[in-house]
Amino acid sequence: MSIPQRGDWQQLGNVRSGVLKALEDARVAKKISASTEAKVVLSADGVLLTLFQDYLKYLRELFIVSQVEVRNENIPAEMSREADIFTTQMEGLFRVTIQKADGKKCDRCWNYSVHVGENSRYPTVCERWQRGNQGNRSRRSGCGCRWLTAVASFPLP
Ligand SMILES: [Zn+2]
Repeated sequence: MSIPQRGDWQQLGNVRSGVLKALEDARVAKKISASTEAKVVLSADGVLLTLFQDYLKYLRELFIVSQVEVRNENIPAEMSREADIFTTQMEGLFRVTIQKADGKKCDRCWNYSVHVGENSRYPTVCERWQRGNQGNRSRRSGCGCRWLTAVASFPLP
């Protein structure tokens, strides 16, 4: 991907507001009890779709959710009043769908991952924790995900 652009981060700030609203609605409706239980599906096309794809690896931490999926879908302007449709400063419409995250809950960071249970030595933790603790038995209490730190230092304008 290219070097992050300031304008992109402003758009992603708008996207984040929409996602947080959708997460809050899902929590109120008791579909999830915490954002880490959620998988966020972002649907858009054109410039917005490219933006989501370029920044996909940051989105999970930006929204503090377990998974993010991006789908190519045209959202026509006449749908702009529907509850799950949001807009950005570039006037691009996108849909936010909140689903239950795939996989099981990691004991260490509470994120959900389909890789929990794959490692017989550490059957209750996610692949991120396993990576962060490889060959480092003395520091098992630390989670390799470090997603809270990543959120705190996120370069939003
Ligand atoms: Zn974890």
